[in-house]
Amino acid sequence: MTLESLTFDNVWSRFPEDFFVRVAPTAWRETRVLDVSPTAALRLGLDIESIDPDRLAALMSGERLLAGMDPLAQKYTGHQFGTYNPALGDGRGLLLGEALTPHGPVDLHLKGAGQTPYSRFGDGRAVLRSSIREYLAGEAMSGLRIPTTQALAVAVNGEKVMRERVEPGATLLRLADSHVRFGHFEWLYQQQRHDDLERLMRHVIDRHRSDLAQHEAPMEAMFQDAVTRTAELIARWQAYGFVHAVMNTDNMSILGLTLDYGPYAFMDRYEPDLTPNHTDSSGRYAFDQQPGVALWNLTVLGQSLTPLIAVERLREILDSYEPTLQAAYAILMRARLGLETEQDDDGELIDAWLDLLARSRADFHRSFRALADQDVVGGLSLSEEIDDPGLADWLERYRRRLAMESRSETERLAAMRRVNPLYVLRTHLAQQVIEAAQAGDTVPLQTFRELLASPFEARPGMAAWSEAPPRNAPPVCLSCSS
Ligand code: AMP
Ligand code: MG
Repeated sequence: MTLESLTFDNVWSRFPEDFFVRVAPTAWRETRVLDVSPTAALRLGLDIESIDPDRLAALMSGERLLAGMDPLAQKYTGHQFGTYNPALGDGRGLLLGEALTPHGPVDLHLKGAGQTPYSRFGDGRAVLRSSIREYLAGEAMSGLRIPTTQALAVAVNGEKVMRERVEPGATLLRLADSHVRFGHFEWLYQQQRHDDLERLMRHVIDRHRSDLAQHEAPMEAMFQDAVTRTAELIARWQAYGFVHAVMNTDNMSILGLTLDYGPYAFMDRYEPDLTPNHTDSSGRYAFDQQPGVALWNLTVLGQSLTPLIAVERLREILDSYEPTLQAAYAILMRARLGLETEQDDDGELIDAWLDLLARSRADFHRSFRALADQDVVGGLSLSEEIDDPGLADWLERYRRRLAMESRSETERLAAMRRVNPLYVLRTHLAQQVIEAAQAGDTVPLQTFRELLASPFEARPGMAAWSEAPPRNAPPVCLSCSS
């Protein structure tokens, strides 16, 4: 199938008129597509060979729409750093249309499409740096099997955009099963529009969770689904060292997708209090705060659903969050350590491993991979990664635990290499890719994108892409200005 043959069923444009504002994208000059993601193309059911770069560039410049698209900015609100902001909405992205694909409906959203009535003080633009970071994040998360939005392509244009300095403008063609945020529900709740609140819930059920429609209490089942999926999402973030960094409720997806990549980071060293967003001085969205913040956000969502669901039921459903997260996290971490069975002391073994990483300032990802690489010639070596007198003790404890497993060592190590990535979207590597692209070289972008899409598979000649930053490198410091 080609991009031009996509069919659209734009449900959102049939919602009550203040759910959105129809806005045509601004046409940017000299737009060039820098990379197209084969995995995202598959998600749309597209044959990547059939995508014409010039026609895609025309779409991403805002000059030309596909037949059936009906661009609009969605209205939503949300809690930003704990404070309710009623004035939010798509300020620089437009929902172009909802494509019908073999895998269900997929939103096509153009980020960096120009100003909308919700832009407030913003210019409606996106810069190349942030667009590449979001593009790569979609690939990396998909590669790690972490639910996410994902961009089909990233394009640069001839506009200059002012941030801390002048930067090249860009657009991102983002795909998502849905762009419905917790903040959509907060908006309707705050406006006391209970019929529209119910209508929005029914929309999410009908379009995305049709199995829940038959449930005796579909609204409760939908909230339970959001709680479960959010818990499982956060478990994955914690297991893979991902910090979202701006977990405002307008950036939380009702489907439990990772949404709105800003100053996010995959940690290098294991640092539980890592806060890559330098404007988050209180560390509200630090790595180790994420499980609690997600529950806080789910509580805000639950509050917004009080017109539809009894408070007692909301409380019971919220109570399932923590055990769901703990169970999902334990499964992921046991898999990362190669443990097939479940034993009482596994939690302590995992905590001791993380303590060892924190104390030794070892690299998080390379240490896991080294555990899995022990029988591989040329693989990473644990003693090179972890320089700490505590390593021997921990390894002794780990060996005793492994003795309770029945799999052969070869099988176990192979399974571990399928869940412990070698290629991780590290901030310094993303920065190298961005600088090369800004200088006109997109080869690193394509190479890194390809590695991140299959992050577990070692490729010859690619060792530089699995390097940690130099030990004396300054700490990750990113800003929200994207
Ligand atoms: P974020 O923290 O990136 O999710 O953005 C929060 C809100 O600000 C959203 O409503 C965005 O649409 C809006 N926003 C962010 N950057 C811009 C910009 N450059 N121009 C207009 N609106 C923006
Ligand atoms: Mg946002």
